[in-house]
Amino acid sequence: MMIKENYEKILSKIKESCQRSQRSVDDVLLLAVSKTHSADLINECLSVGVQAYGENKIQEAEQKNPLIHRDGKQFHFIGHLQSNKINKLLALSPDLIHSIDSLSTAEKLNQALIRLDRVQDILIEVNTSGEVSKNGIDPVALDNFVIALSALSHIHIKGLMTIGTLTEDRVEIRRCFRQLRDLFEGIKAKQINHCEMKYLSMGMSGDFDIAIEEGSHIIRVGSLLFGHRDYT
Ligand SMILES: *Cc1c(COP(=O)(O)O)cnc(C)c1O
Repeated sequence: MMIKENYEKILSKIKESCQRSQRSVDDVLLLAVSKTHSADLINECLSVGVQAYGENKIQEAEQKNPLIHRDGKQFHFIGHLQSNKINKLLALSPDLIHSIDSLSTAEKLNQALIRLDRVQDILIEVNTSGEVSKNGIDPVALDNFVIALSALSHIHIKGLMTIGTLTEDRVEIRRCFRQLRDLFEGIKAKQINHCEMKYLSMGMSGDFDIAIEEGSHIIRVGSLLFGHRDYT
């Protein structure tokens, strides 16, 4: 029950943000970030209308995915990808990988895709917060990274993802999202082969309203939908 109510609250917030920024609600995908939550809860969430769910740990997704009624719904991988987990991730058939930020990992991913005769949609994760502890490509290195990645035959670049600064400062959060949007538009204008700038993945429970105003197409919402996470 709780999930349905939370979902409806989120939908009305999405609608308000879209109205404020004169965007269509159809251009924003709500990705339910289901890490730490059970397959039952994920199924409940998909049954009330959520179209996509995302996990950040491959082992956790391996355990839960067989129990999920995926029919037509999307599964996204949003965590850091280690090269030794590539085959396990591909076995889960993710519709989108949000978090590519290493050329050597991307090359190994491409090799695995060639062997499977499959292509994979990915986003490039960008570090807009400037925090060294964060994953993601440094914005100054992004152009070269995109060009190198676009040479990989079985990887389809579909856009950019960021986490942004974890702060209460809404001005700083907006700055991160605006920076990602600017980078996105800059790459789009270059018209690089095999590189489509279609999706901006930005915004989480506390800041997706700002992200939508700044042009986000995929908001990644966990706690607002499922409640607080218990890692114990
Ligand atoms: C956990 C997580 C989220 C969701 O965070 P909430 O604040 O619970 O909405 C979004 N994106 C990534 C990459 C995450 O790991």
